Amino acid sequence: MRYEVEYLDPEPLAALQLQRLRRIAELAYANVEHYRRAFAAAGITPADLKTLDDLKALAFTDKETLRQNYPFGMFAVPMADVQEIHASSGTTGKPTVVAYTRADLKVWSEVMARSLACAGATDRDIVQNSYGYGLFTGGLGVHYGAIELGATIVPTSAGNTRRQLQLMQDFGSTVLTCTPSYTIYMAEEARAHGIDPRRTTVRIGVLGAEPWSEGMRREIENAWDMKAYNIYGLSEIIGPGVAQECVGQCGMHLWADHFYPEVIDPHTGKEVADGEDGMLVLTTLSKEATPFLRYATKDIVSMTRQVCPACGRTSPRISRIKGRTDDMLIIRGVNVFPSQIEGVLTQIEGTEPHYQIIVSREGALDNIEVQVEVNERFFSDEVRLLESLGARIGREIETVLGIGVAVKLVEPKTIARSEGKAQRVIDTRKL
Ligand code: ADP
Ligand code: ZN
Repeated sequence: MRYEVEYLDPEPLAALQLQRLRRIAELAYANVEHYRRAFAAAGITPADLKTLDDLKALAFTDKETLRQNYPFGMFAVPMADVQEIHASSGTTGKPTVVAYTRADLKVWSEVMARSLACAGATDRDIVQNSYGYGLFTGGLGVHYGAIELGATIVPTSAGNTRRQLQLMQDFGSTVLTCTPSYTIYMAEEARAHGIDPRRTTVRIGVLGAEPWSEGMRREIENAWDMKAYNIYGLSEIIGPGVAQECVGQCGMHLWADHFYPEVIDPHTGKEVADGEDGMLVLTTLSKEATPFLRYATKDIVSMTRQVCPACGRTSPRISRIKGRTDDMLIIRGVNVFPSQIEGVLTQIEGTEPHYQIIVSREGALDNIEVQVEVNERFFSDEVRLLESLGARIGREIETVLGIGVAVKLVEPKTIARSEGKAQRVIDTRKL
């Protein structure tokens, strides 16, 4: 399936982007207090957006903006027009909420169908979708896209790995969609049960939602005897389906007719040259329910606008996500901010504000261990009390993060002190 818009020359693409931007900017300005103020602060109105560059007058929007407007403050349409709501974890326990109108769901289906097609999937494929279904956008985004493409969707969702493997063999799944780490875990489980993942019918993996490396790609392709392609997205912009690698595996094609990209030097706030690293800032050009103008993703990438040597698409390509400008960790696909853990610890009596978060990867599974100093008085107490303190910290952190962590209580003054910025996170994963 060929989508002509992915092959547009720069000028017609810019014209389409500007036309769409003006409509969405009007909608945001008319209905979202945050954007009314952002335009006022810049001294312009949407009518002043005469070129795409004029957008640069607006300040960035980020996750914090969404949190301040929890739950529905960023909606640009009445609730009657909202068809679906998603939410992802935020730093303070309040999730960030995004919404879709009927037209937005069509756009989401389209960009996800385009992403699957870009990776080489067709209407003859059987897509086993092992992204989690629910408030997380991964599951449903891929689901809509596979249906739009005309493929067969098997909505297994994440987890229950043995059943996944059984169905994969019985149904003859040809495309596997999930996080890269889950493919490694699945391959291990398969081998443990006498199944050779290389002999399954899976030929393509569309993998994302967390950072991974070329080394992991080689490992995955080898374990499964399949092609593994990177997919990028975030709930604020639409969910999965923002950018996708083609068969050339040379950067992710960003669907710039729906998402206008800028790569910004986080220190100067200015655009960097093509090929240089910076923070990806995205403006949604067609999303009605929760439009975002200049959304600061905090993801670090480089971008090229050169025609793709592998597939001929003109749509800009972004590199792998090279890091984040904030301290967000992605653990088993869940966004985790160290401040969330700190927030729990500071509310628990008996602990000192000295802690360290150790992130490791065992096989394919990410683990967190939180080491916490316990104050003198508590530490000299009975072991039983210490145990129940540890269990309580574990429970409370799990409530906030939604994933389990190991808690290790340590004696006062055992965690290394730092003279500058405390090193709160030790990430030993080799991503
Ligand atoms: P979702 O709920 O769809 O995962 P979130 O908004 O919770 O979306 O998380 C989006 C973040 O996940 C991105 O900003 C990015 O940091 C990370 N992410 C998504 N896809 C990839 C990818 N292919 N490689 C690296 N990081 C990714
Ligand atoms: Zn390409």
